[in-house]
Amino acid sequence: MAAQETDDHKYVYDFSEGNKDLKDLLGGKGANLAEMTNLGLPVPPGFTITTEACQAYLATGREPDGLAGQIEAHLAALEREMGKRLGDPGDPLLVSVRSGAKFSMPGMMETVLNVGLNDQSVVGLAAQAGQNDRFAWDSYRRLIQMFGKTVCEVPGEEFEHALDEVKSARGTHNDLDLDADDLRGLVDAYKKIFAKHTGREFPQQPREQLDLAIRAVFESWNAERAVLYRRQERIPADLGTAVNVVTMVFGNLGPDSGTGVAFTRDPGSGAQGIYGDYLANAQGEDVVAGIRNTVPLQELERLDKSSYDELLSIMARLEEHYRDLCDIEFTIERGKLWMLQTRVGKRTAAAAFVIAGQLVDEGLIDEDEALHRVNGAQLAQLMFPRFQLDHEFEAVATGIGASPGAASGAVVFTSARAVELAAEGKSVILVRRETNPDDLNGMIAAQGILTSRGGKTSHAAVVARGMGKTCVSGADEIDVNVPAKRFTVSGRTVTEGDVVSIDGTTGKVYLGEVPVMPSEVVQYFEGSLDAEHVDNPLVRAVHRIMTHADGKRRLTVRTNADTSADAARARRFGAEGIGLCRTEHMFLGDRRELVERLILARAEGERDEALAALLPLQRADFEEIFREMDGLPVTVRLIDPPLHEFLPPLEQLAVNVAVAQERGEDVAKEEALLAAVRRMHEENPMLGLRGVRLGLVIPGLFAMQVRAIAEAAVAVVRAGGVARPEIMVPLVGAVQELETVRAEAEKIIAEVVGDSGVEVLIGTMIEVPRAALTAGQIAEAAEFFSFGTNDLTQMGWGFSRDDVEGAFFWRYLELGIFGISPFESIDRDGVGRLVRIAAEEGRAARPGLKLGVCGEHGGDPDSVHFFHEVGLDYVSCSPFRVPVARLEAGRAAVETDGSDSR
Ligand code: ADP
Ligand code: MG
Ligand code: MG
Repeated sequence: MAAQETDDHKYVYDFSEGNKDLKDLLGGKGANLAEMTNLGLPVPPGFTITTEACQAYLATGREPDGLAGQIEAHLAALEREMGKRLGDPGDPLLVSVRSGAKFSMPGMMETVLNVGLNDQSVVGLAAQAGQNDRFAWDSYRRLIQMFGKTVCEVPGEEFEHALDEVKSARGTHNDLDLDADDLRGLVDAYKKIFAKHTGREFPQQPREQLDLAIRAVFESWNAERAVLYRRQERIPADLGTAVNVVTMVFGNLGPDSGTGVAFTRDPGSGAQGIYGDYLANAQGEDVVAGIRNTVPLQELERLDKSSYDELLSIMARLEEHYRDLCDIEFTIERGKLWMLQTRVGKRTAAAAFVIAGQLVDEGLIDEDEALHRVNGAQLAQLMFPRFQLDHEFEAVATGIGASPGAASGAVVFTSARAVELAAEGKSVILVRRETNPDDLNGMIAAQGILTSRGGKTSHAAVVARGMGKTCVSGADEIDVNVPAKRFTVSGRTVTEGDVVSIDGTTGKVYLGEVPVMPSEVVQYFEGSLDAEHVDNPLVRAVHRIMTHADGKRRLTVRTNADTSADAARARRFGAEGIGLCRTEHMFLGDRRELVERLILARAEGERDEALAALLPLQRADFEEIFREMDGLPVTVRLIDPPLHEFLPPLEQLAVNVAVAQERGEDVAKEEALLAAVRRMHEENPMLGLRGVRLGLVIPGLFAMQVRAIAEAAVAVVRAGGVARPEIMVPLVGAVQELETVRAEAEKIIAEVVGDSGVEVLIGTMIEVPRAALTAGQIAEAAEFFSFGTNDLTQMGWGFSRDDVEGAFFWRYLELGIFGISPFESIDRDGVGRLVRIAAEEGRAARPGLKLGVCGEHGGDPDSVHFFHEVGLDYVSCSPFRVPVARLEAGRAAVETDGSDSR
């Protein structure tokens, strides 16, 4: 259909003009409706108003020039194509007005169906439908309800109450039992509700209905729940939504009509097959809202074989075309199938891996693409623990495993209560009949979500999957009573505060707290499940994709481990060395006493004694770790925190001394300790006497550690092993600091190592901004740099992690000063720039300088990509994050274009 444009700037696209790559402009829904239209699939004709029109409207508060004329032209073309006119009393064209942003925001924004109905055209519609009055009045009451609620902010409950009243007058719970007269009466009641709340009559002019609905969709972009959802999902706030105007097709015309949703594979497990829900004699929103119970899509084969077959062949076609799992919405109008929506479907983490593997097998994508289709956040989810079930725990109900994971917590029934208890640090399970967009806050706060109604495509299920939250939906044995704050199940009553456990994989619900065990994916990484032989599609897919990632990645992945047990686990997880072995814990426990002696030592002799006593203990610690990491590099960081951390707290000590004095006891030792603690007290310990400063102030401390490291390495080598120690000096800001430590260390190493063949590298952390800015100088004295991005972030921003995250980060996130905590994901522009400068200048001064990163960022997906780009040699992270870092390092290597995989 050719439309006459009335303004230079094009704001309206016919479905035949768009395609799937125009999501920015047409939104996901519009772009895909266009794509399906161009594929020749049965899509009801319509057009899309662009996101640019929405942005212009939201910026100025009015429709941009030219928009009204373009809508007019496209509407006229649509009317010509359909041979009907909007609002024609005899044979009206009806349309839906649907939101559709670039990124799917399920249920967040508005849609109005049946636009174009009024007191006259409702009669025409009935006549056209073969004197089907029931259908026409049902459609009309839906229009008033949706229009009232979404366009004019009439409270939705009022409409629902009116509907319930009519139903109970009829003695039924099912809206299908209402006849045309009931519905006609309902239309009158709805109109009164509308007038009462808006102070005007329900608009009878179809074009006015259309314009107001379009405007309401624009405005729904800034509805509170949409704003919240975007923040949670990190969707930019300025994209705006497109508006789709689509010719209505009717699933509520009788038993030979209906509506449904479907997935081309199981979005939960990834298994091949047809998954979906179907509802006969209904309009689309009924399925998602869970108003009536749907039947499995397979039932449709019995109800309407030819539509079913056509649907299957279209789904196969879509999968092949999109080369991915698709989800769809469809409606059958008297035996004729219509496609109303498709998109590359959301899926669980497990399904993402399984499907990526299947698509490679099917030849639809290659292994690089498979790697691109999964991510570290999903892998991390698959490493969540599972419930460990034995005879003691029997499920009290089984719903649908809507979003995987194992969650236990106190039952709450409202979003507000969930938020309250979560703020107190409690884990909670939000229990609802079904959730709606207003529950979003509570869903974010809860550990898991349990609903008694709704399928895999209900609001609770879709949103929970998006957030990676455990969810069981449609557990219909559970009878939820929100006002009374309780639910009953198989004769038992569970009240607010009682603990339940839900399994989002199996859909099972347990009373009490069920203990957890490692997931299959963790068992695989630990080596207790053999991917080559196990008949578990997920484990096989993870194995295959991890193998590909390992083959592609340039970054080496090391682990942060302070004990041989951690080292052993990380090695099983694929760690290729230790990037950070902290030595602090080696001064705790029963060694505290020695440390106290060291700190209190007044004479050189006392100090040397204490150090001499610590030496063999440290050596044994290192030996154990070197043996565990046989052949792999181990970076040992010399002691970092301020020494007073190893002493008792000031207040406690002061009280002890006072009490003992009162009793007339001998307190000379305690008094000395107290004096030392007072002496060492610092206003800003983070910026105080710690790291290399400590090594320079306390003679013999670093020397003892260096000796322990070297001796341990020699012992391991003498026993036939391979030890590759790397000594890392913390908190260096000036090359002179490092040179001083280095000169002493080299002497000790030369003396200890002799001809054993042990090689010990000496390097430094780059964690003080000054170190990053003088990296060229520091590199002269360092064989490696390891970026301590926790401290670098702390000192770069000038705020301490321990103090500020709870204090003001929420406000910074709200204001968009940062999109995510800079402790979680590296701040590329600021702290990242320091890393970049240090890497470049360090390498310029010393080619071949080894570069790595230790600290939380080493296991954060986005940061790993950054470290790849900057050209580091390795990242180091906690043992559980090692697989995540391996995967992301592989993705970084294959994704040269940096495209996002949301
Ligand atoms: P959402 O993004 O919340 O899914 P939609 O715009 O897809 O909202 O519409 C809500 C429901 O209305 C869906 O089930 C959809 O299939 C149905 N629907 C939308 N437009 C039409 C139409 N033209 N004819 C019939 N049903 C429609
Ligand atoms: Mg939809
Ligand atoms: Mg540090």
